[in-house]
Amino acid sequence: MVGDNYKRTLERVHKACERAGRDPSEVTLIAVSKTKPEDMLLEAYNAGAREFGENKVQELSHKMSSNILPKDIKWHMIGHLQRNKVKYIIDKVSLIHSVDSFRLAEEINIQAKKCGIIVPILIEVNAANEESKFGVSLEDAPELIRQIASELNSVRVTGLMTVAPYVVDSNENREIFHKIRDLSVDIDKEKIDNVSMENLSMGMSNDFEVAIEEGATIVRVGTDIFGERNYNL
Ligand SMILES: *Cc1c(COP(=O)(O)O)cnc(C)c1O
Repeated sequence: MVGDNYKRTLERVHKACERAGRDPSEVTLIAVSKTKPEDMLLEAYNAGAREFGENKVQELSHKMSSNILPKDIKWHMIGHLQRNKVKYIIDKVSLIHSVDSFRLAEEINIQAKKCGIIVPILIEVNAANEESKFGVSLEDAPELIRQIASELNSVRVTGLMTVAPYVVDSNENREIFHKIRDLSVDIDKEKIDNVSMENLSMGMSNDFEVAIEEGATIVRVGTDIFGERNYNL
């Protein structure tokens, strides 16, 4: 079931690319596996999934060291990250999507330096200015990126990420995705050293097709692949 869901979702990604006149190779589908058991991740893997997203450090560490999951999986940290937990995942994640403060970037930089690596990060933008969400405002994002780029040399900003509001009609989020895309174009024009805007991580089960039409290069899909999450287990 999970395998079929993954293939069906990938097909929808490809169709959305076609509609938008984009090459499907431009868009990466991340299977968001939070709360789900390893055997379900393996089913997705066997259907072709190689990129997985988790939002909690403990669960991510656990799954990254699993004996049953293949080692060529690329892990994405997509949830709020506390500074004291950075050290547990730093050398094992392929991309951290959720950087929204200089202090967090600074800690990632310290830990990356210790490991002798450069860690790619995305800046999380709270485009709808929702109280309940993490992320820097659209207005503050450019300055945060300039500061990270000029002061920290073991992290590299490679794009933006956003979690759009939950809406019934996905078209309601089109404007938000469009704003994020505009922001990434503006930042790209600044040609800041050590910054690239190659990644736009936006779109979830409810709205990933609209996000692709608006320029997403990474979509993060959980429910459509693994089913509803039960947080009361
Ligand atoms: C859970 C989560 C997703 C996936 O959400 P679905 O609606 O289940 O597809 C995507 N991004 C983030 C940051 C998440 O926490």
